Amino acid sequence: MKDVIIIGSGIAGTVAARKLAEEGHKKVLVLERRAHIGGNCYDKKDEHGILIHVYGPHIFHTNDEGVYQYFSRFTDWYAFPHQVVAQVNDKQIPIPFNLNTLHMVYPKPKADEMERKLIDAYGEGSRVPIMKLRENPDSQIQEIAEYVYQNVFLRYTMKQWGQTPEQISPEVTGRVPVLISYDNRYFQDVHQGVPKNGFTEMLEKMLDHENIEVRVGVDGKDALTFTEDGKILFEGEEFTGDVIFTGALDELLNWKYGQLPYRSLDFRFEYHPVNDYQGHAVVNYTVSEDFTRITEFKHLTGQNDAIGTTIVKEYPFAYEGKEGQIPYYAIMNETNNALYEKYAADVRKYTNLHLLGRLAEYKYYNVDVMARKAMDLAEKLVGGER
Ligand code: UDP
Repeated sequence: MKDVIIIGSGIAGTVAARKLAEEGHKKVLVLERRAHIGGNCYDKKDEHGILIHVYGPHIFHTNDEGVYQYFSRFTDWYAFPHQVVAQVNDKQIPIPFNLNTLHMVYPKPKADEMERKLIDAYGEGSRVPIMKLRENPDSQIQEIAEYVYQNVFLRYTMKQWGQTPEQISPEVTGRVPVLISYDNRYFQDVHQGVPKNGFTEMLEKMLDHENIEVRVGVDGKDALTFTEDGKILFEGEEFTGDVIFTGALDELLNWKYGQLPYRSLDFRFEYHPVNDYQGHAVVNYTVSEDFTRITEFKHLTGQNDAIGTTIVKEYPFAYEGKEGQIPYYAIMNETNNALYEKYAADVRKYTNLHLLGRLAEYKYYNVDVMARKAMDLAEKLVGGER
């Protein structure tokens, strides 16, 4: 008999499973509908022996020492300072836009003056979201903001979200602020990198515990029944233990209030028989092309001895719920959040059901934040709370 059922084996489900099994001594059953564990962090070697991130590039970065230490029990790291450049016409410029970028874009005397103004306005080392920078009345700061808006955010955001930066939630563009420093790193977190042998191996090790049983190729939605009077049945019998659901809530409830909007991505992988395709792990295409970015995996994983190189181009599109499509990003705004809340309200009567993760909570979580949330939930449940 199981104590806990977890639907989904991504970061959320896997971290929760391990903590509940190990610290809570709970018998945990993990149901994963794909043929593999790991959710969208799943990585594997392709036919050329190059480790690829099958559902898009994931770079772990955190200031959360607890999460870093927890993951480090299950993996060593290939640690590297992640840097991104944007291809802007014939130039490659560091992203996030920072003082190095400023000096590449403007001639020295002007850039020096602009730099002083930015430091006076925001302070050295600060992080200014583009939508905030645009509000500054100073004409030179306006000029920088306009450059960044036009050359970094507008087209990329139109591709990624099908909407302008004004139309999407400000926290999304705020993920990539203008940096008032000479820091070319994409993230400023203390720890950054990828698990040395990949996310899949790290997550497999996490799931490898005597109290955890994993069933892949099993859809939790088919295995569970939610009765009108607030009970959850597992394989036809009432299950009174905790159920952690990490999938899409609208799908779980058969889209009864209509579909929650998500953005999806079409990943097109290419192998090139060259040693180095683009010299960077990630190049963002912020003013041209239909894809948003190209990731070259060997720079991400440190596989410098690989023969040839594998890249992936990301083509965003609106998720429609069709067979084979994957919802990657919740499109958070007032209307959509309200629709989500309607679904969430519907399942409150299942007091042993816990919604966890990007999909189940309709949120935009990074790996470390997701892990922290999973750890917190598991600790709460170990403590006997509901
Ligand atoms: N963004 C942009 N241009 C860039 C990088 C990011 O317009 O060169 C915007 C875009 O709207 C994107 C958001 O900032 O969706 C967040 O970017 P991030 O790299 O964090 O996205 P993720 O890696 O999670 O897809």
